[in-house]
Amino acid sequence: MRGDLTFLGTGTSMGVPTLGCRCSVCTSADPHDRRLRPSAVVRWRDEDSGRERTVVIDTGPDFREQALRAGLTRVDAVLYTHSHADHILGMDDLRPLSFAASREGGPIPLYAGEETMRVMTRIYDYTFSPHATYPNRARVELRPLEERTRIHGVEFQRVPVIHGDMEIFGFRFGNAAYLTDVSGIPDASFDLLGGLDHLVLSALRYKPHPSHATVDQAIGWARRAGARQTWLTHIAHELSHEGANRALPAGVQLAYDGLSVPVAL
Ligand SMILES: [Zn+2]
Ligand SMILES: [Zn+2]
Repeated sequence: MRGDLTFLGTGTSMGVPTLGCRCSVCTSADPHDRRLRPSAVVRWRDEDSGRERTVVIDTGPDFREQALRAGLTRVDAVLYTHSHADHILGMDDLRPLSFAASREGGPIPLYAGEETMRVMTRIYDYTFSPHATYPNRARVELRPLEERTRIHGVEFQRVPVIHGDMEIFGFRFGNAAYLTDVSGIPDASFDLLGGLDHLVLSALRYKPHPSHATVDQAIGWARRAGARQTWLTHIAHELSHEGANRALPAGVQLAYDGLSVPVAL
């Protein structure tokens, strides 16, 4: 099946421009230097039903704006990488889409690891508590993220990666993989990254950070994985789109908000 992977946001947790900052990237006139919080969407047309299918990876605090910009009118499922604010705090904005989904077939499934489920259950108590009574709560259902999740005929394989002292998840689907908030990739996970056309890796900045890869680390992993094209995301204001891209080796480029690449699912 043919589909698309679209970057809804490619910024780090604070977004770019960063509030209060007057650096050259935060004040840049290049629209590629405006980065919302990290998120992506995989879309394809279902061969059987002819319907467009939409799977979102992470719903951060910019989700509403991103969904409007990308023209998302339905969401079939959400896959969560981990429980940090820049990846989960837009969940409530699924509400209007979830009302339509629940009339059609049921609540929107949210696939998440154990820790993410625990944090979301606490933060969104008014949604997930068995005693929740708020009538306009999101029609969503947390489901444990298994090794493989099949969504309308497309398989999403979870790819464990290290983020500081946490184990979190990236995803492989068809000839593409999306790994964000990475500070380490276990050997066993590299085994899941063979034969990729598109690999997405997070790269925060040039200077080391305890829980995020530098540009150089990401380039090293990109070489090891050997994808045809590697896209960097979760980018801080230290990197200007144009300047950083000029210095990157062939086959590695900064992604930007709104970039869409074709994927074989
Ligand atoms: Zn993050
Ligand atoms: Zn700045």
